[in-house]
Amino acid sequence: MSSEEIDLHASLKKYFGFSQFKGLQEDVIKSIVEGKHTFVIMPTGGGKSLCYQLPALIQEGTAIVVSPLIALMKNQVDALRGISKENGIAHVLNSSLTKGEIKQVKEDISNGITKLLYVAPESLTKEEHVEFLRSQKISFVAIDEAHCISEWGHDFRPEYRNLRQIIKRIGDAIPIIAVTATATPKVQEDIMKNLGMTSEANSFKASFNRPNLYYEIRPKTKNVDADIIRFVKQNQGKSGIIYCLSRKRVEELAQVLQVNGVSAVPYHAGLDAKTRVKHQDMFLMEDVDVVVATIAFGMGIDKPDVRFVIHHDIPKSIESYYQETGRAGRDGGEGHCLAYYSYKDIEKLEKFMSGKPVAEQEIGHALLQEVVAYAETSMSRRKFILHYFGEEFDNETGEGGDLDDNVRNPKKKHEAQEDVVKLLEVVGKTGEIYKGKELVFTLVGKSNAIISSHKTDSDSYFGIGKSKEPSYWKALLRQVLVAGYLKKDIETYGVIKLTKKGKEFVSKPESFMMTEDHAFEEANDAPAER
Ligand code: ADP
Repeated sequence: MSSEEIDLHASLKKYFGFSQFKGLQEDVIKSIVEGKHTFVIMPTGGGKSLCYQLPALIQEGTAIVVSPLIALMKNQVDALRGISKENGIAHVLNSSLTKGEIKQVKEDISNGITKLLYVAPESLTKEEHVEFLRSQKISFVAIDEAHCISEWGHDFRPEYRNLRQIIKRIGDAIPIIAVTATATPKVQEDIMKNLGMTSEANSFKASFNRPNLYYEIRPKTKNVDADIIRFVKQNQGKSGIIYCLSRKRVEELAQVLQVNGVSAVPYHAGLDAKTRVKHQDMFLMEDVDVVVATIAFGMGIDKPDVRFVIHHDIPKSIESYYQETGRAGRDGGEGHCLAYYSYKDIEKLEKFMSGKPVAEQEIGHALLQEVVAYAETSMSRRKFILHYFGEEFDNETGEGGDLDDNVRNPKKKHEAQEDVVKLLEVVGKTGEIYKGKELVFTLVGKSNAIISSHKTDSDSYFGIGKSKEPSYWKALLRQVLVAGYLKKDIETYGVIKLTKKGKEFVSKPESFMMTEDHAFEEANDAPAER
């Protein structure tokens, strides 16, 4: 079917009551209707579900929607039933159904009534379901939360890895639509590779910039609680979320706030279900201003006027940080994102990973290093986050370009052209085999087992940067990475390579203004829990 044959706007109005498409929705829908493999990356709230729901409703046959969470499926199915009188329009197929119910669902599919069939990946592995679906007209398969395919995503699910084989068995030529709010280039690549999305697939990526959010990092000292109280009091009457890693800390901080006259409740997975619901509702209904929570709080919470999100402890990845801070300012109004940082917390997070399989540890370590770089950088935080998601951002022209602590209080800059050349040369001369740590060691003339095994410590350039501190080189390395002269190879967990731009810089150096990074004080705290 060609998209010109159907009036998408009329369908949007008819089924959803909206008069305009949001962002890239229309282009995505056209791609799906044309039967192309389609990859959609949009931040949370971007309107992803409509991208596959609308084409499913207007196309012949049934669309299969793979989703990891039964609760999410149920919400969507209920919402879809609300828009249509035909009860059969959306169905869930999962293990909680009785035999009779499953029979009914299958009948509705056969009769062409069901337009969307929501399934968990486990249900799709059932032979009887696959056999049945093979005999039906399937318009396309949408894979929601497609980042679950990647170990580099924040929610890896092994069942997702087999989806491609199963879809192939249901039908060889079924278009696949992968949808996610996780945008790192590595996850993106994993998804496309795993699903066999070739160069013919259409990719759509919305911007991840949240122009109304203000990003700030403060050093975490032992006075962190007092600092938080002061902040919350200055923002009295406004809604806010404070994230802590441990349940114990959640309880303590909630109490400290209460004692200091702030209306706050705790939220974590250790509380009984009734209390959790009660506290969540109190927050949503504005009976309290502040929720102190572990990361168990937030999924599916849609309070538009959260005015601040505080991280008492730094999260384990930039993605988690982005998701959690993303709960501020959904209505487009102000949203202050404040995180407390101390390197000790990073060491603690490293320690928690120590029992895990090696590959998982390597990934966890690489993700944590990005968090360290983000916290310690003195460049624009917005630019840093967007770079992490593979997006270039210009603070002069980009929306929200002045909204972060580093842009508001810039540190002094100095010309670092010569040092950039040194750094790039060391990367090239050592053969592009080292990660950041070994590069900095080589520059300052410090050896370790890896360096001596490559005999780098007897090379003439070993120690060419020893007049400067390791912290200086680390900072320069980060800035040079963001500027695009070097890149981190993710496959190898962070080996640093020269880019074309970097090679050009070495042969024809330009000005490079460097800012020195923050120096942070140390503090203490405890383990990660839900
Ligand atoms: P995501 O899955 O990307 O987080 P949703 O699909 O839940 O986002 O959509 C977010 C919100 O935007 C929902 O309330 C939805 O009804 C609304 N929405 C989606 N498309 C449109 C549109 N074209 N016009 C107005 N609102 C829309």
